[in-house]
Amino acid sequence: MRYYLGLGSNLGDPRKNLVRARRHLAGNGLKIRKASSLYLTEPVGFPGQPWFLNQVVQVETGLSPWELLGLVKLVETKMGRTPGSRNGPRVIDIDILLAGDTVLDTPALTVPHARLAERNFALVPLAEIAPRAVHPGLKKTVRALLRESPDRSRVEKASARPEPRPAAR
Ligand code: ADP
Ligand code: MG
Repeated sequence: MRYYLGLGSNLGDPRKNLVRARRHLAGNGLKIRKASSLYLTEPVGFPGQPWFLNQVVQVETGLSPWELLGLVKLVETKMGRTPGSRNGPRVIDIDILLAGDTVLDTPALTVPHARLAERNFALVPLAEIAPRAVHPGLKKTVRALLRESPDRSRVEKASARPEPRPAAR
């Protein structure tokens, strides 16, 4: 099945953390087919922390959405993410954005991701690699979701060269 995963980090060296996360995922058998550019993004819902570095990857795997969630949590734990960092600074956050045509609505796993349509930090990188992918619940393309996004927070393509992140505001 084809998945789109959203990766994010704003602690330590975010660029390295994204590399490590991709390595963990590939090391566990996921085939990373596409990877978006890296984006510097303004934190949403928890101001005063460093900007995030975000990326979306397309992966191919035989794992079910539940199995993939287990793997994603394992990688987050291995990378030293501590509980209670929801919406706060974190070494790594890995979200399942889209899982083929699967629609699941439970507290432990909601796919497509519950807040995908209102998060530019996920929509912008996703639209870079999959503008025509369809959100199976909303029945809209990613491109349309981005166009209609109510989110006003900033998302800027990170340059290839590592650069200092904008200070927390
Ligand atoms: P968030 O990503 O919303 O900032 P967390 O990463 O701490 O917060 O995730 C909280 C919980 O959300 C996870 O423990 C997981 O079980 C649940 N969850 C529900 N749907 C998804 C999804 N599509 N991808 C990842 N986690 C999800
Ligand atoms: Mg998460």
